[in-house]
This record gives sequence, structure tokens and C-alpha cells, in this order.
Amino acid sequence: MKTMTCKQLGGACDKEFAANSFEEIAELSKNHGMEMFKENDEAHMQAMQAMKELMMNPEKMQEWMENKKKEFDSLPDN
Ligand SMILES: [Zn+2]
Repeated sequence: MKTMTCKQLGGACDKEFAANSFEEIAELSKNHGMEMFKENDEAHMQAMQAMKELMMNPEKMQEWMENKKKEFDSLPDN
């Protein structure tokens, strides 16, 4: 399992997620983001807004995902 924080995944807090694949950790982070969004958490709403803007540019989004995947892959397994 590898761990990444909410912040590392484009979020806004230091909550840690643990998963065996990048797809899995991205899903965990997304679910957490949606929960925080429901609670009207200001910091997470801003982070989600920034992600939304990123998504409007598929090329940049792709680049972001690839960089994050690389970051995930380079982490030590624990
Ligand atoms: Zn968070």
C-alpha cells in the first residue's frame, strides 16, 4: 500500500489515503472531496474549483494525472 495526502492529490487537507493503485487512491480522494464539498468546506471547495478548471483543459488534466501517477509510483510501498 502507498499513501498520499489529500493535498498531494489536489485537495486541501493533510488527510492520508492508502491504496495499491493510483486509480484506487484517486477514487478515495474524490470521495473524500465530495464529502467535504457536502459539508461546504471552504478550502476543499476552492481546491475542487481549481480541479474543475483544470478539467476544462484535457491536455493539462492528462499531464496533471500523469505527474500524480508518477508521484504515486515513486512512493515507497509500506
Ligand atoms: Zn481533504
